[in-house]
Amino acid sequence: QGEKKLLIVEGLSASYGPVKALRGVTMSVDRSKITAVLGANGAGKTTLLRTLSGLVKAIDGSASIDGLHFENKNPEDIARMGISHVPEGRGVVQEMTVDENLRLGAIWKKDFDIKSKLNWVYELFPPLLPRSAKAAFTLSGGERQMLAVGRALMSEPKALLLDEPSLGLAPLVTAGIMSLLRKLCDDQGLAVLLVEQNARSALSVADEAVVLSLGEVVVSDKASAIKEDAALRHHYLGF
Ligand code: ATP
Repeated sequence: QGEKKLLIVEGLSASYGPVKALRGVTMSVDRSKITAVLGANGAGKTTLLRTLSGLVKAIDGSASIDGLHFENKNPEDIARMGISHVPEGRGVVQEMTVDENLRLGAIWKKDFDIKSKLNWVYELFPPLLPRSAKAAFTLSGGERQMLAVGRALMSEPKALLLDEPSLGLAPLVTAGIMSLLRKLCDDQGLAVLLVEQNARSALSVADEAVVLSLGEVVVSDKASAIKEDAALRHHYLGF
């Protein structure tokens, strides 16, 4: 069982000044699995991802990947350890080209065949190829999300942290991106931590789910079990 677990988070807490956004979060993320993080507005979902990628400092608790602790490391070191974050709003550099944005994803990698990795990302997301020399702001919403995910994959992460990837996208576009990520989970053992406001759709793609409320874990279980728990759904997930 220990082999399956890639990310292990224990008692993680984080604050914004006086606001305690995470209160002792304990959870884990398995290799080859999609784990959804669910909960109402302000539950702490985004803060969890930001703390795991080093953008917010943990004030307590621990987090490890493959047995190596990374709480309190900086974002670049955490990225080197195999964690890639696709922030809410996607975080691509609008004025830069598609190609430049993708290269940014692996800018700190040494001894790395960036060309073959680029080709691989263009194969994963064929619509990006004819737009490689276009500025990111010229892309459609779906293409921009592909770019953001592609950039995150450039560094060959073990874990991909995705914040609200469905925001503003047509359901079919989101479904396409999720099925591609599922394939990377199956083929390469990628672990995906997926933050979603839309719990119903997240539970339909995820294997596991963690429900947060006011910065605390209410439950973590198989996505199917959470989907079937009507009381939990009504109380915390709004459907
Ligand atoms: P949402 O879906 O609305 O983003 P969330 O579950 O991702 O919700 P967080 O954004 O992590 O929740 O917010 C958790 C708590 O931290 C909330 O009380 C929020 O108001 C607070 N918070 C978030 N970001 C900041 C910030 N930069 N400064 C101060 N408080 C913040």
